[in-house]
Amino acid sequence: MRVKTRFAPSPTGYLHVGGLRTALYNYLFAKQNNGGFILRIEDTDQSRLISNAIPNLKHILDRCNLVFDEYPGKGDYGPYIQSERTNIYKKYYLKLIKESKAYPCFFKKNNPENLSPEFNIEKSLYRMQDELFVVKLFINNKESLKIQDQIRGDITFDLKLIDDPIIIKSDGFPTYHFANVIDDYLMKITHVIRGEEWISSLPIHITLYNALEWDLPKFCHLPLLLNEDKSKLSKRQGDVAVEDFLSRGYLKEALINFIALLGWHPSHDNEIYSMKKLIEEFSLNRINKSGAIFDLKKLNWMNSIYLKNSSSKQLLPNIIHLLQNKKIGYNNKDQILKIINYGKNRINTLNEIVDLITMFTEEKKIDYNILSDFNYKDLYILWSTELKKIKMLNEDSIKDLINKTKEILDISGKNIFLPLRYALIGQLHGPDLFSIINILGINKSIERLKNGI
Ligand code: GLU
Repeated sequence: MRVKTRFAPSPTGYLHVGGLRTALYNYLFAKQNNGGFILRIEDTDQSRLISNAIPNLKHILDRCNLVFDEYPGKGDYGPYIQSERTNIYKKYYLKLIKESKAYPCFFKKNNPENLSPEFNIEKSLYRMQDELFVVKLFINNKESLKIQDQIRGDITFDLKLIDDPIIIKSDGFPTYHFANVIDDYLMKITHVIRGEEWISSLPIHITLYNALEWDLPKFCHLPLLLNEDKSKLSKRQGDVAVEDFLSRGYLKEALINFIALLGWHPSHDNEIYSMKKLIEEFSLNRINKSGAIFDLKKLNWMNSIYLKNSSSKQLLPNIIHLLQNKKIGYNNKDQILKIINYGKNRINTLNEIVDLITMFTEEKKIDYNILSDFNYKDLYILWSTELKKIKMLNEDSIKDLINKTKEILDISGKNIFLPLRYALIGQLHGPDLFSIINILGINKSIERLKNGI
């Protein structure tokens, strides 16, 4: 059977990094097996609808290069949005009621807290025409269930601990369990790869597959993502939205690479993986059972590697995008390229490059009182005259000028660097003088030095 996986998020308005990992593993496994990968939207909780959540979600998944074969609007097994599939669910819950595998519970006195089950099939179908009801699934409490998980091996559930669950709510919408099973079957999903938090739902899902006499897909439950203190990674403790990581200047390739290693460990020590390499190397049986720590330091390190390995030209569109988002104006693309070139080997995120850009392009208010301990005026006079004479600006020409300064003004080290930096970029510490002058250009540098005289 052709492998087919799915990512089945509920539209919460943002993509959690844990969701990105689930989507990624499903994608990698499908692509590795020349299989299909589908996006299904699980929006049956009508009380939690968020406007634009679906297009936003699709947009961010597209941005991360997770290409779906089927998704809302494309594919032969749709609709791919559960709220558009209520007729399909109806067919199956009626079938289960007629086979005494499910039963309706009617509201007494219109009170949802006060439910009375109806086990007579004829009466059930009749009363369902005009009374308020929910539908519950029969769980055979005498049995225990053994289920094989691809990552955890056999898991046994004691069904005595499980009450008959609601599969259809009073608003006519299915619960997650019911819609999820029906759709996985009808959409021909072969591997259900999802977070560990869904293990406890498995006995209900298996009971449903059995009641409908359907073959089970293979189940793989991924380990939890944890904070460094081992607590569950959640929105409350900081950024967990993929969107936030991208807007904070992480490259999507670095984020994908980092996320891929949260729970999956490759067979050798290499840590840098392109999507293509991930597709080749990924395997379900190298996924850990224990929780994976979301180590921001490692993400920073990984992002810095991706930045180093990218050319300034490659990074330019990302930087321009960030500048536009932050409404930072720029007019000199060559200068931006020079700043990227300087920054990409030294920093962890694109946002730090943006900070560098503003450092160079913003005209700052300069207070020369800060420099009262330095003989800065003579220094500025010397450098503005000498810079004018430089034909080929390079590290050597700046080194020569520094030596000349030592001779003529009899100062060295920080007495040269700090005041010059202050006039050029408005701060005492920062990049080396050659990089600063190279980025600003000789004319602009002279102009700023003269302002200080
Ligand atoms: N809709 C569920 C979620 O939001 C999907 C769980 C599953 O993959 O079965 O995570």
